[in-house]
Amino acid sequence: MKPTHQKIQHWYKKHGRTSLPWRNTSEAYEIYLSEVMLQQTQVKTVLERYYFPFLKKFPTLKALGEAPLDDVLKMWEGLGYYNRAKNLHKTATTIDCLPQNIEALTLLPGIGKNTAHALASFAFKQPVPIMEANVKRILCRLYKLKTPTDKKLWELAYALLDTHNPFDYNQAMMDIGATLCRPKDPDCSLCPLSLICQGKDAPNLYPTKKKRVVPTREQHVMLSVYNDELSLQQRDGKFLHGLWGFEETEVPLCASEYIGEVSHAYTHFKLKCKVYVYHELNREQEHYFSIAQICKLAISKVDEKIVKLYLDTM
Ligand code: SF4
Repeated sequence: MKPTHQKIQHWYKKHGRTSLPWRNTSEAYEIYLSEVMLQQTQVKTVLERYYFPFLKKFPTLKALGEAPLDDVLKMWEGLGYYNRAKNLHKTATTIDCLPQNIEALTLLPGIGKNTAHALASFAFKQPVPIMEANVKRILCRLYKLKTPTDKKLWELAYALLDTHNPFDYNQAMMDIGATLCRPKDPDCSLCPLSLICQGKDAPNLYPTKKKRVVPTREQHVMLSVYNDELSLQQRDGKFLHGLWGFEETEVPLCASEYIGEVSHAYTHFKLKCKVYVYHELNREQEHYFSIAQICKLAISKVDEKIVKLYLDTM
């Protein structure tokens, strides 16, 4: 074993997050679920609020495939990026068990090269590297790379991999990135990679940070109320597809009342909704729900905020 690999293994045994539940199971489905949840969400959120309730409700891939999509979306509510849940469900309806081969894994909906490698390593113990944000940052600093291509990063990741102990090595790389090689103020003095790290004198230079400008989208949202029940529709567009939500309107009705504004930050944009209430004299929409029923529907975070605003102004 190379000295650096020895140091990494030693560090991982002492400081790694070895008790995470998805690191202590051999069930490919449980690891698959964790990988999908962790694609856009922090470990703490997944662990404290979503992973166990989801597994309790859908303990196997088969159980997930047999469940209605609405139930799956309800368990995903608040986690965001609902396409992840829909892709999980789609996979569960088409296969009984996950393939082990990386190429076959990437053919499944929602599984790209990174997730396929993570599944191959964590679920099937194959000697392949992983490439999530923490690992990318470490590689950039190790080799003083400011704007590397994906191809270059994969080449370096394969070259650095500990092929004798790939599972612990990959988990350790993620933990080193999360706890030592942080985006700001990395703690190089404690890092098991410091002996081979070329960028440790000025780690903040690697990789170059891109400045992101997040646009704001504005919407008018109409709450149609009939007999104390609110109208919601199941969304069929790309955005928040499958979730129930309130009607977006170009121009609010004259007879409607403005009750306030809610906003929500998504990764690629900020959404601002001006909210209006319209009391219908006759039933004009297709679906109406009481507040108690709305609480059981799968709705987005922004619609949750709209419900709260409505309740606060009643
Ligand atoms: S030595 Fe510092 S910069 Fe290099 S990998 Fe470790 S924490 Fe990151």
